[in-house]
Amino acid sequence: MKLMAITAHPDDEAGAFGGALLCYHARGVETSVICLTPGQAATHRGPARSDAELARLRRAEFAASCRILHVSHGEVLDYADAGLVRADMHAVVGDLTERIRRIRPHVLLTMGPEGAVTGHLDHSMASLFATLAFHWAGRSDLFPEQMAAGLEPHRTRKLYYSTAAFTLPDRPPVSPPPCSATLAIGPWVEEKIAAFQAHTTQAPLGEPFARAMRRFGDKELYHLAAVSEPSVAEAESDLFEGIPE
Ligand SMILES: [Zn+2]
Repeated sequence: MKLMAITAHPDDEAGAFGGALLCYHARGVETSVICLTPGQAATHRGPARSDAELARLRRAEFAASCRILHVSHGEVLDYADAGLVRADMHAVVGDLTERIRRIRPHVLLTMGPEGAVTGHLDHSMASLFATLAFHWAGRSDLFPEQMAAGLEPHRTRKLYYSTAAFTLPDRPPVSPPPCSATLAIGPWVEEKIAAFQAHTTQAPLGEPFARAMRRFGDKELYHLAAVSEPSVAEAESDLFEGIPE
């Protein structure tokens, strides 16, 4: 079984999906993360003196976080941080369908189109690009050059958006997708925190994140957004529920 997460920035893989990545690795699922930008527009910049240097540092931090999360395939693409709203939609979705057709996940995770609790526009765009890639990777009439290069269309069984049971008063208003799946991640909270804190350029965020996780972080909430087999949504506690081994 395979699980893939599509994110916008280094640290999203730990902050948004760390629990799911750890929990399913422990169950023998092979996990992958595709991150669209190297995070070079971040407010917190560590010792970096340029965008290029920050991108290089954050790629290394992403790799360290993926090691802690036991991610089999972690990859940072080179789209512009804070620039995904102006990215070439066809190119980004093509890059993602190529990964989906190559890796062939059963379950795909991304953030919601509202942009998660921060309402970050890159999160919204990552959600839209990942959603199109989920749907289009399974069609033989789209990105045919990938098939000419030896890939086959691939239909991922389920698409989930991460979601939350709260909003942040100091951020733009967001309308989160309702929670349909609750994943208990209690045993993995400390490893999730360690993965987030592997992003050392983002150190000012590390302690508040750890405090919030230790208090409220024993669950990750998800919204089932699409399924390859038509079904009626029911409350779930397992993102692989209904997928035959
Ligand atoms: Zn982010």
